Amino acid sequence: MAAQTILSIIPTLKEKHSGAPSRLSQEAQDVRGRLFSNRTLPVSRPREKPVRLPPDVSQEDFETAVKELRGSIGDENVEVNDKDLVDGWYIEHPNTHDAFHIADQEELVSSATVYPGSTEEVQATVRWANKFKIPLYPISIGRNLGYGGAAPRVPGGVVVDLGRRMHKILSIDAENASCVVEPGVTYFGLYEEIQNRKLPLWIDTPDLGGGSVLGNAIDRGVGYTPYGDHFANHCGMELVLPNGEVLRTGMGAMPGPDGSDNPTWQSFQHAFGPSIDGIFSQSNFGIVTKMGFHLMPETDHQSYCFTFPHDDDFEQIVDLIRPLAQKRILGNIPQLRHVIQEFNVTGKRKADFHDGTGPMTRDEIRAAASKMPLGDCSWVFYGTQYGPPESIAAQLEVIKNEFAKIQGSRFFLPSDVPKDHYLHDRSLVCSGVPVLRELEWLNWVPNGAHLFFSPIAPTRGKDARTVHDVVVAAHKRHGFDLFPTLCVAGREIHYITNIIYDRAQPEMKARAVRLMREMIDECAAKGFGEYRTHLLFADQVASTYNWNNSALMRFNETIKDVLDPNGILAPGRNGIWPKRFKNKGWELKTEDVDLANIGPRS
Ligand code: ADP
Repeated sequence: MAAQTILSIIPTLKEKHSGAPSRLSQEAQDVRGRLFSNRTLPVSRPREKPVRLPPDVSQEDFETAVKELRGSIGDENVEVNDKDLVDGWYIEHPNTHDAFHIADQEELVSSATVYPGSTEEVQATVRWANKFKIPLYPISIGRNLGYGGAAPRVPGGVVVDLGRRMHKILSIDAENASCVVEPGVTYFGLYEEIQNRKLPLWIDTPDLGGGSVLGNAIDRGVGYTPYGDHFANHCGMELVLPNGEVLRTGMGAMPGPDGSDNPTWQSFQHAFGPSIDGIFSQSNFGIVTKMGFHLMPETDHQSYCFTFPHDDDFEQIVDLIRPLAQKRILGNIPQLRHVIQEFNVTGKRKADFHDGTGPMTRDEIRAAASKMPLGDCSWVFYGTQYGPPESIAAQLEVIKNEFAKIQGSRFFLPSDVPKDHYLHDRSLVCSGVPVLRELEWLNWVPNGAHLFFSPIAPTRGKDARTVHDVVVAAHKRHGFDLFPTLCVAGREIHYITNIIYDRAQPEMKARAVRLMREMIDECAAKGFGEYRTHLLFADQVASTYNWNNSALMRFNETIKDVLDPNGILAPGRNGIWPKRFKNKGWELKTEDVDLANIGPRS
């Protein structure tokens, strides 16, 4: 089959809130070119099924409801999802379905998309949903790829795309080093604005810069400067509750003088009384319309990497990182990657390194690595130090002395590697400059898509080894290459593996689902749970957090049913089902490896 051809011009940030910054225009063109030359799927396929209606809503009621909402927030702001589904790519992504469909493309889809333009219009949308009992699914940008993209958990839900019309940077306070943003502000957008204003501030970006600053924090995503815990560095939110009421958290709960915002809203996170912000992250208790964040004052920095020769150095590396991180000698949350990941950040395909199906062998990995800038090794540690040059030099001495305890370890600065080596992109990301480099992974297989498996382990060699062994064995059983990236803090590791699959191969997708299901259960049996997961695995992950007869989930459900008696807000997100849906067959359990039907099962 012919590769896809694409004719459109990639939108820039000036043209579209979710566009690419002009400084990355050429890179975006190149990345897209490589991705589409590796696709066999058509750009879109005619829909086989009619519009997926919200559950228990007739065609007639749906039409009445759509008409009413159009009357309230404008015809052009309510779009029925009746056109062909286009997966697009990162910058031109859909808001109708999961672009990385692990189920059938037409299964995890919305019935319509709504574009509110203000907090009041979000309230109007929520009241409308209550009236017609239509589930909503809020997204800010909808690029949560690997975790479900823009898809609603309940097929036929209405996606509330907040970003399209609510993408203002409401304030940047240079003295307080903070900002307040609306949902549609991306890392790219915030970064460019700070540069335009010539402010000496950094943002903290994830590996890719197109996500929503607010959305990523709500989903508890991470970045790589010292401000890398995005939710921890938020300060104050405004949100719409499922009954339509507006709430401000933190100091925002106190009115400012003469109708202004409270002057300490972005200074103190907890305010007075219970700290409730946390219950609005990874939940379905509210739609966040504004959020404050702390920004890091810019500083000198130095990125670097170490390589380690043997796969078995793994435990010792983790044990050496622990005290360095606890003492805050390491400047950021470093990444520990397996050397195989050196290949996929080049944009090359698996076929360039390996013949036929099945994972690359260890010998093939060694042979290919020996031709790469870092040479034949097993593990690569990417870190960054911050502060004045003399303090960076002193920190690096301590770190080098520690890692020298592993025989054969080697140290590299960006000046030691070619200009196109990944270390240069790490240097940008770790100093708050959002980039696109990590998209190159998707070239590994044709029609590339990925799922994240993200358990947490204590920062202890033997615990990291336990998780790693489960993951290695499961990948082997199901014939996938293993791509572990460990984000290692002083006491815990986000152990993140990227399962890359071909969207055109149902058999490979089914294997990826089985792989996920088995890793979730096997890790849980040893006491290790995920920090975040794709929508379709949320029930299973949530069910592993079942201490004391699932007291945590019963608590979440109690809150859910009080706040959202009609069950209209993102039912099923993070495994939290309102009464209306609970135990009616919507939950997807360990045994549900066939995702052909995501609707209620008997
Ligand atoms: P990204 O930043 O990667 O584009 P999204 O905008 O898709 O991510 O947000 C990630 C997830 O967080 C969404 O799937 C949704 O469940 C939740 N979310 C995003 N924005 C909001 C919001 N404003 N209010 C409530 N939940 C949100």
